[in-house]
Amino acid sequence: MRLHRVAYLPGDGIGPEVCSVAKRCVEAAGVRFDFEVTWDAQLVGGAAIDEIGLALPPATLDACREADAVLLGAVGGPRWDDPSAPTRPEDALLGLRSELELFANLRPVVAHASLDAASPLRSEVRAGADILIVRELTGGLYFGRPQGREEHDGVESAVDTLRYTRHEIERIAELAFELAAGRRGHLTSVDKANVLASSRLWREVVDDIAPRHPAVTIEHALVDSTAYLILTQPTHYDVIVTENLFGDILSDEAAAIAGSLGLLASASLGTRVTLHGRFGLFEPVHGSAPGIAGQGLANPLATVSSAALMLRWSLGETDAADALDAAVTASIEDGPRTGDLGGSDGSEAIAGFLLAHLDERAEVPA
Ligand code: NAD
Repeated sequence: MRLHRVAYLPGDGIGPEVCSVAKRCVEAAGVRFDFEVTWDAQLVGGAAIDEIGLALPPATLDACREADAVLLGAVGGPRWDDPSAPTRPEDALLGLRSELELFANLRPVVAHASLDAASPLRSEVRAGADILIVRELTGGLYFGRPQGREEHDGVESAVDTLRYTRHEIERIAELAFELAAGRRGHLTSVDKANVLASSRLWREVVDDIAPRHPAVTIEHALVDSTAYLILTQPTHYDVIVTENLFGDILSDEAAAIAGSLGLLASASLGTRVTLHGRFGLFEPVHGSAPGIAGQGLANPLATVSSAALMLRWSLGETDAADALDAAVTASIEDGPRTGDLGGSDGSEAIAGFLLAHLDERAEVPA
């Protein structure tokens, strides 16, 4: 029996509901594939502010450092939206990324044919789209200093700094090349090299690394044209690698290809090596959806897919990851549907479908 330790951070709004479904799915997979997970439940975001006045309490950070992986729900909500508040739930996200050195954010986007009606794109445009967006997560504008507001001689201004070191670009580009080599062998590096010095360094470093990966075709593209092409020719893309801000925007835009935010999973990988893989934080792309929180209406599939990424990347449980992915695909194709996908079923109906699919007596679909 293999043992794994996961820091369990459900957070706010629909976070606890969707995390609970993902946790039960992992436990069902554990029974079937002979492993056990210890869930170290900790406060984060608004729930942590209410309880102890901090979005990211030290105990939560310690639990993450001691774990093989972190499963996070979502943080935030109108209760904590006061702009003058000393701490906001979202502070926890940036804190986790920088403290845990989660430098690579992976967001897979797949167009399931059965969700044509949920996507604003025409079926012939999205058919076959299968993109992996690799976003740099600990550099660029969100972390560069100086940052803040200034006033000189009566002139008010604000500044953010976009800085990347060669090392930061190298490690994310290296990972993106490796991921592309394991897929269809096509990597698009997105930048704004016609204007930004940081993008020119980005492009240079990617080109320096390319000869180490002869099986991968590399193309450079500008972020503005990519924003257009990703929706008009989504099947052109295999792996996209880009810096923090561009990746933030492009990956939410790409959600339109999948059909719903309630389906998109993410993995944020760190540098620490664990017993069976690489330490990471796994969370759905969506937020805390306060409008539907506590009503059992949330779609848990993005969080279940995030748990599958956790099994694959951090816990080394590949068979269990395949089984969770297969259960999610079956649920999308034949299962009950929540409101975001045009249905009227609740989270527990989806949970029941997934758990039945994961039952060890079931065949694992190829
Ligand atoms: P959101 O993702 O929470 O919701 C956007 C829309 O999608 C809403 O209509 C919501 O009901 C729907 N939706 C989202 N997830 C769903 C699911 N699983 N099932 C069904 N419907 C779903 O984004 P928002 O409304 O802009 O933000 C709400 C709060 O979440 C804010 O406080 C925001 O700061 C926070 N937020 C947190 C994260 C995070 O924790 N990583 C990410 C984004 C937003």
